[in-house]
Amino acid sequence: MGLSPFSLGEGSTPLVRATRLSAELGCELHLKCDGLNPTGSFKDRGMVLAVERAHAAGAHAVVCASTGNTAASAAAYAARAGLEAVVLTPAGATAGPKRAQARAVGARVIEVRGTFDDALRLCRELGQREGFVLVNSLNPDRVEGQKSIAAELIDQLGRVPDIVALPFGGGGNVSAVAAGFADLGAAPRLIVGEAAERPTTWASAIRIGEPAHAEHVATLVGSARVEVLSLSEHELADAWQAVARTEGVFCEPASAAGVAALKRVGSLDGLVAVAILTGHGLKDPDAVADGAQEVVEPTVEAVLAVLG
Ligand SMILES: *Cc1c(COP(=O)(O)O)cnc(C)c1O
Repeated sequence: MGLSPFSLGEGSTPLVRATRLSAELGCELHLKCDGLNPTGSFKDRGMVLAVERAHAAGAHAVVCASTGNTAASAAAYAARAGLEAVVLTPAGATAGPKRAQARAVGARVIEVRGTFDDALRLCRELGQREGFVLVNSLNPDRVEGQKSIAAELIDQLGRVPDIVALPFGGGGNVSAVAAGFADLGAAPRLIVGEAAERPTTWASAIRIGEPAHAEHVATLVGSARVEVLSLSEHELADAWQAVARTEGVFCEPASAAGVAALKRVGSLDGLVAVAILTGHGLKDPDAVADGAQEVVEPTVEAVLAVLG
C-alpha cells in the first residue's frame, strides 16, 4: 500500500517493554502505544484508507457514529480530503477533548438523544444516501487499514508474539488484528477484554451495547482464534491505573482493557505478550480524579509540609 495523499503519519507507534508489569504478570509484556497515532487513537490506521476511498468514489461527506475517537479521526482526514464530516455522538456520553478535536478541524458534531447504538443506526441509514459514505468500522476499508498493526508488531518484536491482548468495543479492531496476522500466516493467541457493563461502562470508548462485529467475533471465538473476557469496572480501572503508575504510560480508560484481560487470564509464564493500548490518556483527562490537587503558599516550607 502506497502512502495515502491524506496521510498524517499513521502507525510506527512505539512498542514499549513493560518491565515492572511483566514481573507482576510473569510474562514478557510489551505495550503497543497506539494512542500515539496522529489523532491519538488506533482509528487513524484505517480511517486514512476509508476517507481516501470515499474521496475517490466522489463522496461529499463522510458520516460516523462515535464514542469520540472515530469522530476525531474521521474529522481530521475529511478536512485533508476536503470532505464534510458528519458525526453523531450519544448526548452527554463522550469525552470533551474528543469532541473538541472533531470540531477544531471543522466536523459537524451532532449529539443524539440516545445511545451509541442509536447513533450508529442513524448513520447506517445516512450512509445509504447519495454523497454520504459511512466510515464506522462496518466500512471494510477501516478494517483493511487497521490490519497494518500485525506486521508492525512482528517487525518491532522480531518475532510473532505468543499473545496479543486488546479491548473489544464494536469488534472492528479484533477483526482487523486477527485478519492481519492471518494474512501473514501467524496465529498468536488473541485475548480481548470487553466491559461486563457494556452500555454504561466508565471506559467510554467501549461503551457500546451491541457490537457491530459481534457475529464475526463469535466466529473467531468458535474457531479458537480469540478469547473474550468480560471485565468488571474495577478490573478495567485497576489495569488502567497499573499501566500508568507502574510503567508511566498514560492511556485512556478503555485502552487498558487488554491488560485487564491478561491479568484475569493469569498463567502466562514465560510467554511473550503484547497489549495494544488503543488511545491516549489526554483523550479523557476527567478519568483522573484531581480531588487530591494541592495548592500551597509559594514557600519551600509549605511544599515540604504538604509532602509530609
Ligand atoms: C474504538 C476504540 C476501541 C474499541 O475498538 P473496536 O474496534 O470498536 O472494538 C477501544 N479503545 C479505544 C481507545 C477506541 O477508540
